[in-house]
Amino acid sequence: MSHHIAIIGAGIGGLTSALALANAGHRITLIERSTGFSEVGAGLQLSPNASRILIALGLGPALQRAASDPTRVVIRSMKSGNRIGEIALRDHMQSTYQAPYWVIHRADLQTILLDAVRSRPNIQLLVGRTVTNATQDNTGVSVAITTAGGALENLQADMLIGADGVRSTIRKVIGDTRSPVYQGYIAWRTTIDSQLAPASLPRDETGLWLGTHGHVVHYPIKNGSLTNIVAIQRSKEPVEGWTAPGKLSDLLVSYGTIAPELKQLLSSQNDWLLWSLAYVTAQKMFQGRIALLGDAVHPVLPFLAQGAALAIEDAACIVQELAASPDNITQALASYHAKRIDRARKVQDNSKRNGKIYHAPALIAVPRNMVISRSGPTGMVKRYDWLYGYKG
Ligand SMILES: Cc1cc2nc3c(=O)[nH]c(=O)nc-3n(C[C@H](O)[C@H](O)[C@H](O)COP(=O)(O)OP(=O)(O)OC[C@H]3O[C@@H](n4cnc5c(N)ncnc54)[C@H](O)[C@@H]3O)c2cc1C
Repeated sequence: MSHHIAIIGAGIGGLTSALALANAGHRITLIERSTGFSEVGAGLQLSPNASRILIALGLGPALQRAASDPTRVVIRSMKSGNRIGEIALRDHMQSTYQAPYWVIHRADLQTILLDAVRSRPNIQLLVGRTVTNATQDNTGVSVAITTAGGALENLQADMLIGADGVRSTIRKVIGDTRSPVYQGYIAWRTTIDSQLAPASLPRDETGLWLGTHGHVVHYPIKNGSLTNIVAIQRSKEPVEGWTAPGKLSDLLVSYGTIAPELKQLLSSQNDWLLWSLAYVTAQKMFQGRIALLGDAVHPVLPFLAQGAALAIEDAACIVQELAASPDNITQALASYHAKRIDRARKVQDNSKRNGKIYHAPALIAVPRNMVISRSGPTGMVKRYDWLYGYKG
């Protein structure tokens, strides 16, 4: 049985769920408040638990062309530059989980998803429209929309998915009125021409630098021509607004002494965008005919690189549960909640804990570094079998 499903938000979660549900034969109306889709200065890691779902949706060849497949993560100390250990990626991920660990420019992933969405006759994409409210009864859902020009519209559907991000309107609609709480971290994001990166940092590796005041992650995107950099800064105060421009000197002052090659990497770019990292613990993933998905229900601190991956997993699960209970949407969404809530919380908790481990003070950093070094590249992956090996 096919349903008419309204999806609010065309981020990675909304686009993936639209595509997956359309492939399963449902009719989709995808509503997005912005009119432009490109996201400047940001990359995304797609671990095997997510890449396998995108490949199953038929996006493998396009992703393969656009993504990079780093050989390993090299972990170093921010202060000394000393190598602490490694995490095996390319060959090991593929042979262990039969799926790649890709890194990609977000705009590329969004374009690939959008192209696929636009090619499906059973998906209608409405942009420049903000959903302000939704109500439901036993027969369906009514969605209140305001257009960019201020006109009011109403849409009737059998079911609704709120994929509308961390400051979700739909989360409030289903009775969860909590606001996201700032977590004491600011993410600085940029991309640089890879030619500007220190020659000692190989272009086919991901770098992870650990320090007490924050950490830095960088990896190749755009076939290695660009390097994506995320620098996490511990800060009691969030930045004004949620995406603000940042001054490199402020970041460097807060980091204190850092290794020369890390300083060179960070100093090769002056334009940074800042995100204050905010969070609510996953609680209610559905009510009646309305489901939440992705950051709308379980925003994740980006210290395990799993926020988008979880949204992609959610999308696959909703499709499965609707197939299992085709005549009963509420039953399908109750099963979706039951299957997803513990995993979402586990990923949220582990991401949070990683922040503490990454930023450990010197006394704790010594045993931490020993564990990383002794585990070895494949041992470090084994610790996350539950994460990367997940198949729903
Ligand atoms: C620094 C950083 C690095 C990260 N790195 C990774 C990584 O490597 N790997 C990974 O998996 N995750 C990563 N993440 C997390 C990831 O970016 C998010 O979890 C993911 O993008 C969430 O996708 P989403 O579709 O749920 O929400 P969003 O991307 O927030 O999309 C929500 C969409 O809904 C729209 N919208 C909102 N409200 C309305 C409304 N009322 N009406 C209509 N439209 C609306 C918005 O305009 C937006 O397009 C990172 C996050 C950060 C901050």
